[in-house]
Amino acid sequence: MSASTTETDEASAELLRMALPMMSKHAADYTPQSYAVWYDYVRGANENLKTDIDSALKAHKKLSSTHTYDLYQRHIIDRAEQMLGKARNDIAHLVNELDGKLASAGDNARSFNDQLTDFGQKISGELKPEDLRQHVDQMASSAAQLGESMVQVRSELNASQDEIKRLTDELQRARDEALVDALTQVKNRKAYELALAQFLAESRRTGKPVSCIMFDIDHFKKINDEYGHLFGDQVIRAVAQAIKGNVKGRDLVARYGGEEFIVLLPDTKATGAVIVADHIRTAIERGRIKKRNSEESVGAITISGGVAEYNDKDSPQAFIERADRGLYQAKQSGRNRVCVV
Ligand code: GH3
Ligand code: MG
Ligand code: MG
Repeated sequence: MSASTTETDEASAELLRMALPMMSKHAADYTPQSYAVWYDYVRGANENLKTDIDSALKAHKKLSSTHTYDLYQRHIIDRAEQMLGKARNDIAHLVNELDGKLASAGDNARSFNDQLTDFGQKISGELKPEDLRQHVDQMASSAAQLGESMVQVRSELNASQDEIKRLTDELQRARDEALVDALTQVKNRKAYELALAQFLAESRRTGKPVSCIMFDIDHFKKINDEYGHLFGDQVIRAVAQAIKGNVKGRDLVARYGGEEFIVLLPDTKATGAVIVADHIRTAIERGRIKKRNSEESVGAITISGGVAEYNDKDSPQAFIERADRGLYQAKQSGRNRVCVV
């Protein structure tokens, strides 16, 4: 979603030369998100981002990748939303324009039709051959004109259709981007909220169950403290992938917060959700995550989980709060386990 589309190649290259040293000084994490943040910072067009970074730099010498990622969430993802709005307006504008072109093509065709009627009347009477010839010539020239204007309308229609296709693709991309968590590539909180509303409405309509699993990585502060935030981020990504790899179909995996994930399982009862949650838990417990650039493996990473099944007397919040209570119980009773409430 990039600013680079509005810059010339030369200007973007210059911004790139300025952004790279900032990236290596602050967030050694060379991700598209960190690049987007620093690119926008040196570009200076994103005022709020600039103010936030400048005040953060007064407080800390170095920005962590978590902090950079927060800035991305706050200032760049919003831009995806703006892009969505812009693409929507552009499409509406194009559709109007297309409407205008079609109306004027219609006018041309109607006027040709009138001329034809008129022509029919003229030649139905007694006519001298030279007058007939003149009418026929005139009609032929009108027909040629109409043909030309049709060719032009067709080519304008094609161009508009291409443009609409390009804009709707862009819209789709912006929409997808606005629903994905940039660190882990699973869905973000907003996507989760949309899916929750949809799944619950569906369940009320069909009577089919919906369950939810809330996961939180155990002792994650210790992982950050011992191995650094960058490694912490790598663990968050690995856990996201493990969760994603162990669900199927319409199940939705989202990053709920820092090192918390939520899984929504349509058409699944609590007993089934516990099996899935435990499967994920053991997969993570068994998977050894290695330190970056080293064979040294970190002690087992574990997660705890809380499970709840929706019942239609629940409000959406009450449903999620139950899963959260399950998670709390799992933590209280020793971690690396799944509790259902
Ligand atoms: P518990 O087993 O009780 O969950 O212990 P915990 O240490 O994991 O405690 P808690 O869940 O409260 O702490 C989460 C920590 O995760 C706090 C925060 O510093 C860190 N964190 C949050 N978001 C990120 C992130 O995006 N990247 C990294 N590296 N750390 C994060
Ligand atoms: Mg937590
Ligand atoms: Mg935790």
